[in-house]
Amino acid sequence: MTIDYDKGGGFVPVVAQDALTGHIRMVAVANEQAVRHTLETGRATFWSRSRGELWEKGLTSGNAMDVSAVLVDCDADCLVYLVTPRGATCHTGAPTCFFRRLTIDGVTDTAVPEPTLLARLEAVLEARKGADAGASYAKSLYAGGAAKIGEKLREEAGELAEAVAREDDGRVVSEAADVLFHVLIALRSRDVSFEAVLRELDRRSGTSGHDEKRARGAAGR
Ligand SMILES: [Zn+2]
Repeated sequence: MTIDYDKGGGFVPVVAQDALTGHIRMVAVANEQAVRHTLETGRATFWSRSRGELWEKGLTSGNAMDVSAVLVDCDADCLVYLVTPRGATCHTGAPTCFFRRLTIDGVTDTAVPEPTLLARLEAVLEARKGADAGASYAKSLYAGGAAKIGEKLREEAGELAEAVAREDDGRVVSEAADVLFHVLIALRSRDVSFEAVLRELDRRSGTSGHDEKRARGAAGR
């Protein structure tokens, strides 16, 4: 099977998705030459319709995206580049081009939700820093500092260990959720992003694709 470039007049839409966070970074089009360049170099390349030329992302801005894999949809007329961005993706300086939201009232750049649950939860927990300790459990933990947060972490980890040892799957899920919640609180209390933790896991796994593929010099080999 090959890619069906003809259906779109020589172009296919390409979604650039962050391989670490799952966030969508941008959408553009690519022709056969751009896709081949991407596969050969491991660097996200599109076709610039405004300039009418091949567009290797970041060549002028420095904000390149390393591509660990190219996914093809069921009809072979649309692609996903799984990317590791080296900086902001949008020309406005925003990390992603999708920083606005469409509602029934039109386009707004306020109240744009984070695209994944963990990122949304992280944002909520950050906002709780300004809450009233009496009304917010998270705020009461922040107010208690590292001692209180550490105590809760140890307690919840112990309960998860118990559940794994001798309780049903529902209890394991519930206790794991408690642990993750308190891990997020601990990270927020130090202003450490969950993404930094993901990056560390990615680095340790050594099979993330991009390091491996970069070592081999290309996304398509
Ligand atoms: Zn943009």
